[in-house]
Amino acid sequence: MATNVLPRSVQRLINELARLPGIGSKTASRLTFFLLRSADSNQALELSSALQELKEKTRFCSICYHITEEDPCDVCKDAERNQRLVCVVEEPLDVLAIERSRAYNGLYHVLHGAISPVEGVGPDDLYIEPFITRVANGDFEEIIIATNATLEGDSTARYLERRLAALGGRFRLTSLARGLAVGSDLEYTDEVTLGRALQGRQSL
Ligand SMILES: [Zn+2]
Repeated sequence: MATNVLPRSVQRLINELARLPGIGSKTASRLTFFLLRSADSNQALELSSALQELKEKTRFCSICYHITEEDPCDVCKDAERNQRLVCVVEEPLDVLAIERSRAYNGLYHVLHGAISPVEGVGPDDLYIEPFITRVANGDFEEIIIATNATLEGDSTARYLERRLAALGGRFRLTSLARGLAVGSDLEYTDEVTLGRALQGRQSL
């Protein structure tokens, strides 16, 4: 067995960073040594306090599951918004993208992912049940399914359609106009395209 020549604290950070998506052990080591050697002595401490604050101050909105420091979130609390219109998205960043388009004035529901058999993500791993309950108890006029134009996004949309249809047709079910490139994530779509996709939404 190789001797562990790194101090435990260094190895610990490398291990933690390596657990993040898209960061292998090489990148984790590079980042760790960057922070270790950084001339700005505050940098590592700033990062550490940002991480701590992230967990201490933010939570999911108990209504829409968007990230928020106050529950309910600003969107859910906003009485100026159309309370009978709700848009279902995969990630909190999708909410930001849609807000930037300025083409939407309804509420949201954030699933926190998409159904992906390959990655072992099933409906129960997402915030789908709270949404079904929210719709069943609510009085929505229209539900926009705005999952990503990917395989996972599409299967999530189909699953939602099935579940929502079972509630009876009290609301209109729509999806974004597919001006969006196939395989594209909502969060990377520019606001003009997204605005058009929202305005041109189609009934399912
Ligand atoms: Zn909310």
